[in-house]
Amino acid sequence: MTSTSSGLVMTVRGPIRPEELGFTLAHEHVFIALWDLAARFDYPVLLDDEDVLAGELSRARDAGVRSLVELTVPDMGRAPARLRAMSERTGLNIVMGCGWYRAPYYRTEDLIDRRSVGELAEQLLREIADGADGTGVRPGVIGEIGVHRSWVTSIEERVHRAAGRAQVASGLPLITHSPLSPVGLDQLTILEAEGVDPARVAIGHSDSYPHLRYHLDILARGAWVLFDNIGTAYPNLEERRLGLVRELVDRGYAHRLLLSQDVCTDSQLEFGGGPGYAGVPTRFLPALRAAGVPQEAIIAMTVENPRRFLAIA
Ligand SMILES: [Zn+2]
Repeated sequence: MTSTSSGLVMTVRGPIRPEELGFTLAHEHVFIALWDLAARFDYPVLLDDEDVLAGELSRARDAGVRSLVELTVPDMGRAPARLRAMSERTGLNIVMGCGWYRAPYYRTEDLIDRRSVGELAEQLLREIADGADGTGVRPGVIGEIGVHRSWVTSIEERVHRAAGRAQVASGLPLITHSPLSPVGLDQLTILEAEGVDPARVAIGHSDSYPHLRYHLDILARGAWVLFDNIGTAYPNLEERRLGLVRELVDRGYAHRLLLSQDVCTDSQLEFGGGPGYAGVPTRFLPALRAAGVPQEAIIAMTVENPRRFLAIA
């Protein structure tokens, strides 16, 4: 259905050639409202100040970042027109997500528990073809498609099946939210049952479950290992993150790894004392180089892999 876009990458400003992506962060957020959850008042929020965010994004651009995947889906507060304006303002390519996040965030009005999986998939495919919310801004990736705990609930399974069907029909890549457990393998099993090629799936937050065995299992299944909490979440794991990337590169998997920071709260921004969107190029990559990871592997993880993964099949 997206034959006109096949081989291209869909950004919020329209399709581009994969070579135009350059250095790409594979999992970030610009506009997000995770606090908007019934009975929850303590969730940190990413500030909604476009001038501050544009400054933060510009510093990432100055550090070499050219593109980012923005995985905010509607139940996390996705803002297609604002993303397009931010892309125009900063010059960064932004690839927007679509789908549903995880069960506690599903909105009642989305009727996920009473519409068929096929209907849910159709909704995603309409948006992928025509754009979101009447803006004409088209998603370039499906996700983040998540689980709330270390298992896939029945309603989350419906979302995974719908996302999988939309992936097969559209050729878009798919990124999961798979925190703190090996649940990414179970999500992959559901997606595969819907006909999804694992090579089109990146397992998000793989580094929040920092076990070599898990990462090798994902790779053996043919999916991508996404290290997307770099410098921003579970800081006690930063050394293990570094060691795991080096180990996986040593084992020949540089072509199957993606790096990012998943900025989604104020404290992760430079504004809040965190590394901001530039943490991967300014902090993590120098540490990788110091640990002996060769430059060609770094180019693979930050430039060549996103180019291959994000190109519409
Ligand atoms: Zn995220």
